[in-house]
Amino acid sequence: MNKEVVNLNHQSYPIFIGTDSSLSAEAVASFIVGNDVAIITNDVVGPLYLEELIQTIKDKNIVRYILNDGEQEKKLKTVHKIIDRLLDEGFGRDSTLISLGGGVVGDITGFTASIFMRGINFIQIPTTLLAQVDASVGGKTGVNHPLGKNLIGSFYQPECVVCDPRFLKTLKSKQLSEGLAEIIKYGLIYDAEFFSFLEQNLSKIIALDKGAMGHAIQRSCQIKASIVSQDEKEKSIRAILNFGHTFGHAIETLIGYDHCSHGDGVAIGMVLATKLSELMGMVSGDDTSRIIKLLEAGDLPVSLPDLDSDQIINVMLKDKKVKDRKIQLVLLKKMGEAYLTSDYPEKKLNQLLGGK
Ligand code: NAD
Repeated sequence: MNKEVVNLNHQSYPIFIGTDSSLSAEAVASFIVGNDVAIITNDVVGPLYLEELIQTIKDKNIVRYILNDGEQEKKLKTVHKIIDRLLDEGFGRDSTLISLGGGVVGDITGFTASIFMRGINFIQIPTTLLAQVDASVGGKTGVNHPLGKNLIGSFYQPECVVCDPRFLKTLKSKQLSEGLAEIIKYGLIYDAEFFSFLEQNLSKIIALDKGAMGHAIQRSCQIKASIVSQDEKEKSIRAILNFGHTFGHAIETLIGYDHCSHGDGVAIGMVLATKLSELMGMVSGDDTSRIIKLLEAGDLPVSLPDLDSDQIINVMLKDKKVKDRKIQLVLLKKMGEAYLTSDYPEKKLNQLLGGK
């Protein structure tokens, strides 16, 4: 098992990555506080992995809480119900919540842990590729509001994260691509060498080759941890993690979340941001082709769907990161280095989006 540390001023925590189940069990056991442990999972992941996890936790009062699968569970009402159950079971400050699932379960559990009794012990066991390389690193927790995604939340760090690539064998291929989009993003914004590794090894990663997948997860966690350690609350460099996301969110919103997944939106958004960077002379046409080829190999879309450019701009103007009514974008300075800027030719952006 490899160990990465997310270094934060007031709370640092380890991420254990590997397939050795006895070591995972040891890691989980050593971070449990108190006698009361609630494992939050859902009705897809629970039947696959919950009993195996319970076998590894000895001599504790264990409560199982099974959510319905899906993003629609990510709401305050769910948090309220979990808290009702914890109180019913007599849980106090000296207890532990464990999330076993993808980003949805992790975000709900982390948020619940952050507010129950003003914050209790929390362990993350992410089971999707996206949750292992992205959602479980960095301490953002929260739920959705009818007016928007992730509008209610907190920054709350877990005691530890245990990433076991064995969970990925039961994922649908579409879900694997969601994680690949973020992995490719890390190479583009932070590490050109990692991007080349992905070009050479993507088919092995998709085939869940232990070495290639292990390295992809570990390097992704290192990169996100390094960025988050520099800027936990997203005041500066953390913004580069949104590469492709401003375009992506607008596309998801206009097409509808049921027809365009987050990963699809981000993939198309990364191509648009790269093309704008190319038009500004920062990356070459050859670089853009490499990025498109890698995304396609990850079964991700690369072309902008037929949408009105003004509509896209209008949605992007509602982004949290708009400053002085100008859309801020993350662009590539070069392969492996990104920056946030509002200094780009708006006419070129318009043309990229199919406008005049
Ligand atoms: P998800 O949690 O909905 O999981 C995707 C699907 O895979 C679900 O149906 C789930 O039940 C299933 N699943 C999970 N693990 C499985 C396994 N091992 N085998 C088979 N099926 C499995 O979605 P996700 O893509 O993991 O995460 C998306 C969520 O994460 C969104 O709510 C998003 O807002 C959030 N997110 C949070 C952060 C953060 O920093 N906190 C970052 C990115 C995304």
